Amino acid sequence: MQNSAYYLNKKNTKSNEIRICLNCDLLQNVSDLKPGFNARCRRCGCILVSKNSGALNKSLALTIASLILFFPAVCFPLLRVKLFGETKSASILNGASDLFNSGFFFIAALVFLFAFLIPFLKYLTLFYTLLSVYFRIKLPFVSRVFKIYCLIKSFAMEEVFLMAALTALTKLDSIADYEIESGFYFFSAFIIISVSAISVITDSEIWERLENL
Ligand SMILES: [Zn+2]
Repeated sequence: MQNSAYYLNKKNTKSNEIRICLNCDLLQNVSDLKPGFNARCRRCGCILVSKNSGALNKSLALTIASLILFFPAVCFPLLRVKLFGETKSASILNGASDLFNSGFFFIAALVFLFAFLIPFLKYLTLFYTLLSVYFRIKLPFVSRVFKIYCLIKSFAMEEVFLMAALTALTKLDSIADYEIESGFYFFSAFIIISVSAISVITDSEIWERLENL
């Protein structure tokens, strides 16, 4: 829906064009921007047009960093918990596997899907698209890949997973001894860097660059 809305943008006059805000759907006139400036929606403040030449480079670099951090974030243990004399540590993937082995198939599938598979696909599809745009090469199916990114990005819930882990820590404090493991730091770094990667560039700017390939 948002992508189709983007294509509604039309040239209005020589120096103005009508843009629809992809966040709140408000139509508004945007005049030509000088390099280095952004035009924001007057209602919700989202970026409508960006002429920030460094945004693409920053987003690509941050997306690569996110993909590198993603694997230690999901494979390394998040916590080491000592309960009733038994010590156990688990990563996101181990946790999903343990839930599956314990018979919690639905919860295991949710954890695997929303904390591993969809976030990974989200940053992989973004990386593929940014790579194409950065090198100005139309890679195979790049528009479809970016459509997939736009479709799945709302379903990746890695930030929610981190918040749940932080909430669990406050509860664990009273019933068990725990130590934060390396995976937790990797996961936190992944969240900060990945959110930055998608914040520095707008989807409309990527679509515009894709159209000009
Ligand atoms: Zn808006």
